[in-house]
Amino acid sequence: MTENLVIIGSGPAGYTAAIYAARANLQPLVITGFKKGGIAGGQLMTTTLVENFPGFPDGVLGPELMDRIKAQAIRWGTKLIEEDAEGIDLLNRPFTIKTDQKLITAHSVIIATGASANRLDLPNEKLFWTRGISACAICDGATPQFRNTELAVVGGGDSACEEAEYLTKYGSHVHILVRSNKFKASAAMADRVIANTMITIHWNTLLIGLEGDHWLNSIKLKDIKTNKERNLSVKGLFYAIGHTPNTDLVANQLQTNSKGYLITKQGRPETSIEGVFSAGDVADSEWRQGITAASSGCKAALVAERWLSKNNLSRLIEREELNPSIAQKKLDLVTSTKENYNSNALLQKGSYALRRLYHESKRPLLVIYTSANCGPCYILKPQIKRLLEEFEGSVQGVEIDIEIDQKIAEQAEIAGTPTIHLFKDKILIQKWSGVKQRSVFREAIKNILNS
Ligand SMILES: Cc1cc2nc3c(=O)[nH]c(=O)nc-3n(C[C@H](O)[C@H](O)[C@H](O)COP(=O)(O)OP(=O)(O)OC[C@H]3O[C@@H](n4cnc5c(N)ncnc54)[C@H](O)[C@@H]3O)c2cc1C
Repeated sequence: MTENLVIIGSGPAGYTAAIYAARANLQPLVITGFKKGGIAGGQLMTTTLVENFPGFPDGVLGPELMDRIKAQAIRWGTKLIEEDAEGIDLLNRPFTIKTDQKLITAHSVIIATGASANRLDLPNEKLFWTRGISACAICDGATPQFRNTELAVVGGGDSACEEAEYLTKYGSHVHILVRSNKFKASAAMADRVIANTMITIHWNTLLIGLEGDHWLNSIKLKDIKTNKERNLSVKGLFYAIGHTPNTDLVANQLQTNSKGYLITKQGRPETSIEGVFSAGDVADSEWRQGITAASSGCKAALVAERWLSKNNLSRLIEREELNPSIAQKKLDLVTSTKENYNSNALLQKGSYALRRLYHESKRPLLVIYTSANCGPCYILKPQIKRLLEEFEGSVQGVEIDIEIDQKIAEQAEIAGTPTIHLFKDKILIQKWSGVKQRSVFREAIKNILNS
């Protein structure tokens, strides 16, 4: 079956395109992305309050906004494939797109793959990645190792300033390392950082080295005016040095500019191949906002619809039931206490349930470490719930919020959220950090149950 329209990417651009295409009866298929170019839901899953998206006078949490846009797309009949697009052929028609599990053909495609956080590629960077270095203060700032200790942020734009301010909630002091002698951030954001006595700004400063043992404990800096080098003791380093468009997938087939952004017709979604359209940050090095991405998603879907009708290609698609059939809602668990603890519950929350299950349960136990503002946790928690339902009670789960249960997080040496530990008979069998496919956990659990 050839799809009318496949949308690659599930940020504001991808989901908005899906809403318009679904309402136009195209029954679009969204390949949400999983890992390759950021998580499903896109960049807004890594931020806290979005205060400039119309319709939310009091602001809205980034993950919540994305959950709502996703729900709207699903309500109109969008089908999701929760995987990465790993290969694509746009040179032959119908187009083909390959994921880990599927080979999909499509008459038209919208590329809405957004952009990913840049790295510096310093020596030791891989060694300390998730052991002191993070690209998401909002996701990892609450980690016990970062509390009451000196932290640093690299970068001079809006993201760097936002992250530095955010980290003052946790660190004893925050250093911001700026390559030039001024911020690129908006004046309002820069002024807030300059006025904050918990932040020291290091102008004209390059980050050139990373040192530590099994955890980062100091960084090497170079003053670009004097060439002097010095060390700064920090236990956490947050990268906020911009983004690269996610165009690897299509780079040899669609025209891109020198920075890798897709080239389209001036102000329009058409790319260099007919029937392939772009939306969002992947073709926008200038505006890069939720609302501009959403608006370009709308345009891309409208143009795709016109193109399909003009070429007599759109048709009604008979689908099996949608999966998931309704959008997943944010999963808010009630913390278990002596009074409401249930030894047979599939998923509970908090240290009380953890202690009881860890000591008393004979079943495998998944412990999911989360933090309140962590976007990837939004994605993972409903996935874990679905997984536990699949096992019909032979496995149990407990969520630990690392901000509430700091001691437990410290003992478990949690270095970022989400982190998942799998126990059986008090023995830690396996651990994972970040969002993983359900099949990864399923496999590990089956191995225990079958052993
Ligand atoms: C920390 C932070 C704070 C921000 N705050 C704001 C704000 O307050 N207001 C605002 O308007 N904007 C804000 N932005 C900018 C905004 O998030 C982006 O402009 C917007 O998300 C871009 O949307 P997009 O849909 O183009 O791409 P993205 O949001 O980047 O989404 C891209 C999608 O493509 C998927 N993908 C990538 N590669 C593949 C692949 N191979 N296969 C399948 N899927 C793939 C990804 O998984 C993701 O789902 C912020 C950005 C950051 C990083």
